[in-house]
Order: sequence, then structure tokens, then C-alpha cells
Amino acid sequence: MDYTRFPRRHYLQGPTPIEAMPALSKKLGGNVNLYVKRDDLLPGAGGGNKTRKLEFSIADALANGADTIVTCGAVQSNHCRLTAAWSAKEGLECHLVLEERVKNSFKPAASGNNFLFELLGVKSIRVVDGGSNMMAEMENSAARLASEGKKPYIVPGGASNAIGATGYVACAEETMHQLNDLRVHMDSIVVPSGSAGTHAGMVTGLKGVNADIPVIGINVARVKSDQEALVHGLVVETADRLGVRGGIQKADIVCFDGYVGPGYSLPTDAMVEAVKLFAGTEAILLDPVYSGKSAAGLIDLVRTGFFPKGSNVLFLHTGGSPALYAYLDTFRE
Ligand SMILES: *Cc1c(COP(=O)(O)O)cnc(C)c1O
Repeated sequence: MDYTRFPRRHYLQGPTPIEAMPALSKKLGGNVNLYVKRDDLLPGAGGGNKTRKLEFSIADALANGADTIVTCGAVQSNHCRLTAAWSAKEGLECHLVLEERVKNSFKPAASGNNFLFELLGVKSIRVVDGGSNMMAEMENSAARLASEGKKPYIVPGGASNAIGATGYVACAEETMHQLNDLRVHMDSIVVPSGSAGTHAGMVTGLKGVNADIPVIGINVARVKSDQEALVHGLVVETADRLGVRGGIQKADIVCFDGYVGPGYSLPTDAMVEAVKLFAGTEAILLDPVYSGKSAAGLIDLVRTGFFPKGSNVLFLHTGGSPALYAYLDTFRE
């Protein structure tokens, strides 16, 4: 793939590690060999998947002459934390619109990512009701900032447009280089599926390098049909931007929605078990909202025999552990 025609900043230090997880594999019965791609170790305060996307999104903002970034997310958004982090590093102002998806969940004095917004110098936070039109809200913020003489640039939620998803196309290519060097064939790759840039980028990138490895998305918010449509739509746009040919079919997008529980960011017993298992066997910290629920999906798929005996399965760890510190009660109950 040729990324040189796109604005891109250099936020990665090199490939993130791919590690075997022998202790977790054994604990789950030993039928499946689990591996993990450590995108939780990406640079950017606290790490996580948005760094790969922001290499392209923030570069696009700078190429457009922006001096101010406006973005949005939930009240404990990792995306907002990393956008604030890279904005600080680039000398850009960062303004957030936070969606209160769970009523009264915004606590100005909360720990976790919310505390980090403050530390990373976010200029303003505006909280809006769950279900608000977030693009319209960000446009309102941008118009106000423009009237004050700023040059705002809107990064969509999760940086999940074709620009941001390009970061995960590059991740798919990086992953294949590593697997070829390791000489390990992966039978499946399991990813969290939220605003969809990660999932869509991985699918597009694997197709682009002609690697026929199924990607399984574990939903964190939506029902299966809605999420698959969202991912496919972004795949089409991203493939078009990069010139990936061959067409990616609806059937290539697979999502499981059985691990969302009562809703986005609301804890489940399976999430708590997954966080404890990863920490206790591999000393890897997950988060309650994304990687914890997608790991719960991975664990259940292993236990129920979804992966044939002897399969190699790669779990994409997208980060998020700073959010753990906003959920102490969930883990201590
Ligand atoms: C945003 C996020 C995801 C989901 O990625 P999308 O590209 O939004 O689907 C997964 N894990 C963590 C930790 C995140 O912050």
C-alpha cells in the first residue's frame, strides 16, 4: 500500500509487539493458541488504538491549516484522551463535546480519562444528552471557535472516517509483516467493533495485502445488523480512498453482539471475568468498555468451540486501561 500521498504524522515508534498468550490459552483449555497484538502499547498518553488513526487525522488537520481540534466521545472516551494528547504535542487547541450516553454519567471530578482531559490541557468540554446529533454539535462548536478567529478542524467520533481508518489499514499490513517474520499463520483475528474504524481498517488492509484471514468484530454498543452495516459502509469508503480493488462483500463483515450486555460502557460479569483473567494470567490490562468486552467475546468463542482445535487466534488489544480507574467499584464488588 502507498500511504505517501496522504498527510501523515509520525506517532509510532515501530510495530507494536505480537505476543503469544500461553498461560491464558492453557487456562481456557489449551485447544486454541491465543496471541495478542499490543496496540495498548502505542505511544500517546495512556496508549491505545486512536494513535494510529490520529497519525492521519491530525496530519489532515495540519495540512488544512487548522490550529484547533474539535472532537467528541463518551464521558470516559479514550479517543478524546488521545486526541487531547496529540493536540497538546502538536501545539493545537483541543475542544471536546461529550455525549452523556448513560444519563448523569458525566462527573466533572471523575478519575480515569476524564481526569486526563484536564491534565492534557483540553480547552473546553461541553456535555450533551445521549442520542444528540454529535456531528451537528461539533459543527456548532467549530462555528463558535471560527467566530473567535480560530481555525477549527473536526475529527469525527473515534476518528472513524476513511482518513482515520487508514491507520488500521497500515496496522493490517504491519501485522502481516510480523506474522510472516514469525512464520505463524493466523486462523482468525478478533477486534473490538465500536465506531468501526479499527474493524473496517483491518478488513480493508488485509484485503489490500491479499491476506485471507477472517476478522471477527465484537460489538460494544450496537446490534449485529447495524454494526455490520456501519463497518461495511466504512470499508467501502476506505477501500476507495486507498484504491483497494476486488470488492469487499457484506459477508466479509462479521460481528457478534452477544457481549454488549445492558448497553455501551455498562459493566457485565463476563467483562469483569475477562479483565481479571488477562491480568491474572498474562499481566495484560484491559478496559471495561472495549477491550474487556471484546475479550469476553473471545473467551466465550474459545470455550464454546467456535475456533477449531489447534487454531491460532490473534486478539487485537486496542488499549483503554486508563478507564479502569473510573470503575473501581465494579471490580471490587
Ligand atoms: C475507540 C476504542 C475501540 C473501538 O475502536 P473503533 O475504531 O471505534 O471501533 C476499542 N478499544 C478502545 C480502547 C477504544 O478506545
